[in-house]
Amino acid sequence: MDNNIFSLLCGVLDKNLILCDEPMDKHTSFKIGGNADFMVLPENIKQIKDVVTVLKDNGIRYTVIGNGSNLLVDDAGIRGVVIKLAKNFSQVVVTDNTIISRCGALLSRIANVALQNSLTGFEFAAGIPGTLGGAVIMNAGAYGGEMKDVVVETTYMTAEGDIRTVSGAEHGFGYRKSAFEKGDIILESTLVLQKGDKDAISAQMSELNAQRRAKQPLEFPSAGSAFKRPEGYFAGKLIQDAGLKGYKIGGASVSEKHSGFIVSDGTATCADVLALIDYVQNEVYNKFKVKLEPEVRYIK
Ligand SMILES: Cc1cc2nc3c(=O)[nH]c(=O)nc-3n(C[C@H](O)[C@H](O)[C@H](O)COP(=O)(O)OP(=O)(O)OC[C@H]3O[C@@H](n4cnc5c(N)ncnc54)[C@H](O)[C@@H]3O)c2cc1C
Repeated sequence: MDNNIFSLLCGVLDKNLILCDEPMDKHTSFKIGGNADFMVLPENIKQIKDVVTVLKDNGIRYTVIGNGSNLLVDDAGIRGVVIKLAKNFSQVVVTDNTIISRCGALLSRIANVALQNSLTGFEFAAGIPGTLGGAVIMNAGAYGGEMKDVVVETTYMTAEGDIRTVSGAEHGFGYRKSAFEKGDIILESTLVLQKGDKDAISAQMSELNAQRRAKQPLEFPSAGSAFKRPEGYFAGKLIQDAGLKGYKIGGASVSEKHSGFIVSDGTATCADVLALIDYVQNEVYNKFKVKLEPEVRYIK
């Protein structure tokens, strides 16, 4: 343990909000990853700012995570400090057809709040296992909807500790990306939905979740779709047509149920997954001349 970093963190946070040598497999849906030197669990915006400031002043790097559902963490873990913004930032407030959500709220919970208030437009996100912050960064989407369609305003903290707000097109949303820069920390977003019929919203969410259960390997650890959709193609179809369904390296394999997913049998290492990603990219390129780009974010 680096005592210098620990004492700097103790200067701005209660000790019970600082975890040392924290195994990242506990914080990722892939259940992969070595230890983070430190993980902090701030409880309010001032604490985030104090952490970011002290780290910046001392040249120590930080990585922000939400629910870890789009992450591949290196087997050697993560150097510096991981700032986990999850349940301590999960407040969701509704006014008429507007929802203001803090970054750590799970999308399933926001969807449930929308349902309880008969608000339609967020059904697409009910089964995505991420937080609001991770979903805004990724412009997460499914079944024809994406965060871009509902997020009208976002407040974030820069790496300098300044708090800023962007609205509309300033988010720079594109396919699985946004304009936020490395080090920016999403704090909260405003979502605008429409009044709808509660039973219809509920039926739609159940239907989409049933489709997920039928088509996706939810019974195995993964980080969702391993690759972005290449324009004009579907990654899963290309991988299947390349004969890679079920292809295995170590404990990682191309899912038998959905070739767009890489799953772990519970023993996969990050090295296994990286090798499999590389192999799949090469095979697909050699056969179809299409470059697959990982959707999963690799961090160390
Ligand atoms: C079974 C399964 C199904 C999935 N289905 C879908 C799907 O249908 N559609 C889809 O788009 N995705 C899907 N995903 C991927 C994933 O759930 C989404 O990308 C989700 O938005 C990630 O949110 P998270 O909180 O888990 O982010 P993390 O995985 O923790 O982080 C993802 C990225 O966001 C950054 N980040 C997280 N929180 C913040 C914050 N507050 N401020 C700044 N940066 C932040 C991280 O640094 C990282 O770069 C699926 C994943 C799984 C495991």
